[in-house]
Amino acid sequence: MLGRVVVGRERISSVVARLAEELESDLEGRSPVFIGVLKGCVYFFTDLTMSIKTPVEVDFIQVSSYGASTTSSGTVVLVKDITVDVRDRDVYLVEDIVDTGSTLADILHLIRARHPRSVQIVALLSKPSRREIEIEVDFLGFEIDDLFVVGYGLDFAEQYRNLPDIHEYLPDREPPV
Ligand code: 5GP
Repeated sequence: MLGRVVVGRERISSVVARLAEELESDLEGRSPVFIGVLKGCVYFFTDLTMSIKTPVEVDFIQVSSYGASTTSSGTVVLVKDITVDVRDRDVYLVEDIVDTGSTLADILHLIRARHPRSVQIVALLSKPSRREIEIEVDFLGFEIDDLFVVGYGLDFAEQYRNLPDIHEYLPDREPPV
């Protein structure tokens, strides 16, 4: 069931504005391509890239996710590849949440094989206590505890993505009678 709000709209907006500012000053002299990791990134990705005034190219990649569970299967399958040629480009990989780090590690491997000039990671949320693979997040919104969250693009079994706030999701609890 849907739990309490963990990060509300106003905090999301101010963090997106702060990240856009940080990114803006990093973009000078670069050839930027922003690659969103679907589907969780969509609301964050659009809010973030629209807040950046420097022209940037956008593209998307999709890998398999949790399905209808709140723990990772540990297997990442490429569902949709990028279409932009990233050779000698500066890639900003935009992810909703970094949990164990395995999804990003696999995507990084895939992107680096195409010889970009640089790859940096932008993530809205991170759960550092869950990390199994060391991933350096270059631009981070928030750190959260070991909670399963939904809303603002994040789903449970494809539900709740379009909630404007980020909520905790409690899979094992029955609604009160
Ligand atoms: P990782 O590979 O880092 O363990 O997991 C990354 C992916 O798992 C994220 O892109 C996201 O799709 C999913 N994920 C991890 N934690 C959460 C969470 O708390 N809520 C939701 N909805 N998805 C999560």
